[in-house]
Amino acid sequence: MRKYKSAIILFAVFEAIAVWLWRSTGSLFYLLNFSYIGCTLGIGLALSAAGWKHAREFVQFCVGSYMLVFLGLICRENMQIEGFWFYLFSGMFGAGVLHYAIAKIFGPLLFGRGWCGYACWTAMILDLLPFKKPAGPRKRIGFIRYIMFALSLGIVILLISLGKANKTSMFYLFVAGNVLYYVVGILLALVLKDNRAFCKYICPITVFLKPMSYFSVLRVKCDESKCIQCNKCLEVCPMDVEVNKNARNRKNATECILCQKCKKACPVKALK
Ligand code: SF4
Ligand code: SF4
Ligand code: SF4
Repeated sequence: MRKYKSAIILFAVFEAIAVWLWRSTGSLFYLLNFSYIGCTLGIGLALSAAGWKHAREFVQFCVGSYMLVFLGLICRENMQIEGFWFYLFSGMFGAGVLHYAIAKIFGPLLFGRGWCGYACWTAMILDLLPFKKPAGPRKRIGFIRYIMFALSLGIVILLISLGKANKTSMFYLFVAGNVLYYVVGILLALVLKDNRAFCKYICPITVFLKPMSYFSVLRVKCDESKCIQCNKCLEVCPMDVEVNKNARNRKNATECILCQKCKKACPVKALK
């Protein structure tokens, strides 16, 4: 059962959130929504621990497409960062604020960047591209994320000041933002030969995700006394994490998406 511990903990946390929100708001939506997400995440982690090769991609599609198609396009909830700003400034305790609080601001203290590995609808498409391992060294253009972060904030402040910020404009912003992210993400992956280039350099959400995931309870640990320095873990890591070190401040530590590829590649089981 030990290998399923993470899956059980994650499911229990989501179920507790689901019940708490349902009981405190009276809305059945919260119970169903968080139960579904917790259930699929828990199943994915369990399948991954059991050795199924495509467990992560399966979960990413279940959660990502649910959020993009059902919550975003059908229910018209802007679940992107602009939606978060909009609901926050409007003082609404909506799905967008909750989503950010749980998946991207406070949740990463527990499960790091699990969102990026198991739920993100942008990455669920980018991960289908052929460059699963970055072809070259990391570029020094990560500052773009801060520009994108400022732009996302600026566009919502502008809409509010013009009196144009409402659910309809937020919906169109959601559609346009997603189209832009997919186009830029795919082009960047093709040019840099790196599926996750968008995540590394452009995505504004990492401004929240990176500092919070530094303190994550769930993380890949390395028993350096077992390590034989074969570098196989480094070769498969899509995010350039120096995972054969155990320190929290190892290189690119806050980039880990918990995909488990390094663990599977390690011949001496030094990674846990
Ligand atoms: S970095 Fe951004 S685009 Fe990439 S997986 Fe995370 S949230 Fe999605
Ligand atoms: S390969 Fe390992 S270190 Fe790299 S992102 Fe995946 S889980 Fe994290
Ligand atoms: S794959 Fe395992 S043994 Fe090889 S460098 Fe990584 S942690 Fe060390």
